[in-house]
Amino acid sequence: MRYVAKEFYLVKPFKFVAKERIIENVPEKFLLLKPIIAGICGSEILYFKGEKEPEKLRARLPMCLLHEGVAEIIEAGKGTRLKVGSKVVVNPMIPCGKCDPCKNGKENLCQNAKYMAATANGLARTLFLYPEERVIPIPEEVEVEVAALTEPFSIALNAFEEANISAEESVTIIGDGPVGYLVTLVASHVGGIPPERLYMIGIVDEKLSLVRDFASTINSAEEPTKLSRLYGTIDVSFEAVGGRAHKITIREAIDLLKPGGRCILIGISKGEVPVEISRIVNKGLTFKGSTRSRMEHYIKVLELLRPAEIQSKVRRIISEKKFIIRSEEDLAEAFRYADTEMGEARTKPGRVMVYFP
Ligand SMILES: [Zn+2]
Ligand SMILES: [Zn+2]
Repeated sequence: MRYVAKEFYLVKPFKFVAKERIIENVPEKFLLLKPIIAGICGSEILYFKGEKEPEKLRARLPMCLLHEGVAEIIEAGKGTRLKVGSKVVVNPMIPCGKCDPCKNGKENLCQNAKYMAATANGLARTLFLYPEERVIPIPEEVEVEVAALTEPFSIALNAFEEANISAEESVTIIGDGPVGYLVTLVASHVGGIPPERLYMIGIVDEKLSLVRDFASTINSAEEPTKLSRLYGTIDVSFEAVGGRAHKITIREAIDLLKPGGRCILIGISKGEVPVEISRIVNKGLTFKGSTRSRMEHYIKVLELLRPAEIQSKVRRIISEKKFIIRSEEDLAEAFRYADTEMGEARTKPGRVMVYFP
């Protein structure tokens, strides 16, 4: 068979260019995949806007973005088990398999991993080849659109596990974006933390309101007193904002935590962030980074997603506005919309999803 894949490369900030690639054979243990739905992640907006470190932009562009999504199997190479026509979640990471973290079951910490839309081309392509062992079939009960959020869900699940939370502890999630929402959902659904000890902190009421039936909320811009009443009372705080907000959110986490409390950092930012170290020392706080996730998390998420009730909760963070991608301009429009600083996603909740026809 001979296939012509269209690939959408970010060549420089704000500029996508489409290129064609001929695919003539599917190697052993590989699948030919056609992306169906993908979510636009905040980390990709940083590339789109040129807000990554200049040396990273120089080394990594041109690159196809998008790393959260589902695809259909178009053709399967020799030695594969999955059937043509089935739909799969793509694990965007291919770990090296040789380093210490990889050998010790911590593939998410592999520093030589290929990760889509960071160190490898992502899903912004009409067809691509991928090893079968890095995809997970979607259970029949799970809607494909919801399954497209497996990657951010798996990251939330890993971050939650890193915190080692017991059911009596109090938890805050700083960040009202999709990852903040998913960590809050995991804390409630998996961790069993009741709403009176589970707070989502953000700045957009419409986004905060999505957790209303399973967590408490605080709008830190509009309810500073409500926020300060929590100071020094929280066992575990998650930072799920990153970017320029890091200056404020890290201080917020230090304020919120009780002595001996711990903070899990999920958001990323460029360069250094000023931190008042002596307050961390005096309160005996632990700050721990959490990055990416492992294959086991993807498998667990797809199991968690089987009941319709949890799927409907995950569905809440799918943006109402949808983008069908036929051209590079369609993709650029979706990215402009998804920018939470300048685009409409600033006030509109939900992961912005793109659909490949
Ligand atoms: Zn992501
Ligand atoms: Zn490795």
